[in-house]
Amino acid sequence: MDLNLLKEEELASLRQLLTTAKNIVICAHRAPDGDAMGSSLAWMDYLNGTGKTNVKVCMPDATPDFLHWLPGSNAVIRYDRRPREVERIFKEADLVCCLDFNQPSRVDAMQEALESSEAPRLLIDHHLDPDEGCALAISRPDMSSTSEIVFRLICQLDGFETMTRQCAECIYCGMMTDTGGFTYNSSRPEIYYIIGQLLTKGIDKDEIYNRVFHNYSTNALRLRSHIILNKMKVVEELHASYYTVTKEDMTQFHFVKGDMEGLVNIPQQIKGLKLSISLREDTEKQNTVLVSLRSCNGFHCQPMATKFFNGGGHADAAGGKLNCTLEEAEQVVIKALLYYKDQLKTKVL
Ligand code: 5GP
Ligand code: MN
Repeated sequence: MDLNLLKEEELASLRQLLTTAKNIVICAHRAPDGDAMGSSLAWMDYLNGTGKTNVKVCMPDATPDFLHWLPGSNAVIRYDRRPREVERIFKEADLVCCLDFNQPSRVDAMQEALESSEAPRLLIDHHLDPDEGCALAISRPDMSSTSEIVFRLICQLDGFETMTRQCAECIYCGMMTDTGGFTYNSSRPEIYYIIGQLLTKGIDKDEIYNRVFHNYSTNALRLRSHIILNKMKVVEELHASYYTVTKEDMTQFHFVKGDMEGLVNIPQQIKGLKLSISLREDTEKQNTVLVSLRSCNGFHCQPMATKFFNGGGHADAAGGKLNCTLEEAEQVVIKALLYYKDQLKTKVL
């Protein structure tokens, strides 16, 4: 099966960037998820295997608990913990690899450090609207995940033979998490061919699923149930649902980062639902509401995220942020639903 993504001249330019680089930094978006972490660590593993001895992975903030098992995860340097060190790494880098994000603003507080670097930037990503200031942008919104792109690049760079099990685990984790365990964005045959290839490296896919998806604390499961039971609102005629999560909800169930991960997908289990929105108070910043959107059944939430929630993302999985109270954010949701009411109203056959 032909997995090649790059045209000859792009491949030559990628090879050129990699050959000349000694000090390499890899970074991904804030609140890194399975794909951000998986693709970054796989890319690091690959680069190490080609003899690069100074490859650093820098993330803006905490990596979730359920990803700490990822090989190489303990080498990640967090900007929120060690800002000076991360600034120095960016300054000394001669190649900056931006994985799983499209625009520098997606690394939040780390943006200045990233932009202060004079090194060429290599972007490997599957979000829409890639940053134009890169030496080489490998932007493929048609791919399931950045991890899938990384796998294909490694193959195109003739690195499959020597790919380690650890690298394969990271790639599998990223592909699995960005497709909700291969339940969306996952109908291309290449994906299953790639999984077959990864299995030849000795990965245990069932174990990876367990580690990632069966990792809730009792409190987390109760918090999630509480939100669906008591907080979820369904606007039946618009095939839409939304819920709010207050600081009190989170305190009551001893919230820790990651506990709400993926909950926004659950309302999509309602027959015919097109749109699910999560509004969560930021536990760290005052007057900040974190917004997650998911869509299906022919509606696409990405334009809504851009227009109403200062964000963006993928066609059917987007996010954003509002600087207001939760009550005000709820009003924005209602406005957004009304704005798109004609598209939302039509019934799915
Ligand atoms: P989540 O709901 O899982 O936080 O985010 C889903 C997707 O939305 C992410 O993969 C990312 O592409 C996008 N996203 C989340 N927050 C933002 C944001 O603030 N700005 C932009 N442009 N995209 C976001
Ligand atoms: Mn991704």
